Amino acid sequence: MESNSSSGTTGSPVRIRLCEHSEQAVLHTSWTDKNPGRRFFGCLYWYPGAPKTGGAHCEYFEWLDGSIGEQEKVVLQSKRDIRPLKQCIVEYEKKMEEIDEV
Ligand SMILES: [Zn+2]
Repeated sequence: MESNSSSGTTGSPVRIRLCEHSEQAVLHTSWTDKNPGRRFFGCLYWYPGAPKTGGAHCEYFEWLDGSIGEQEKVVLQSKRDIRPLKQCIVEYEKKMEEIDEV
């Protein structure tokens, strides 16, 4: 049983991953409820809704673990929570403008 130390993970360079095509995998960020802010590598030819055009389609996928601290997770989660709130503000501002004009 080893406990992971949370210190000493700052500034670690992102490792380059290669998929089955020997293409450099691209780092994405997940925004699903299960894995908010979690980063993963995906093939250049992979993206949500990618057309399944035979050869080019690749399902290379790998989580980038260990690089996200608790603090960073909270920040990312907050950013995600703020997003719809910002949209609300924009809508309210529009309404306020409409009220002003009346
Ligand atoms: Zn690939």
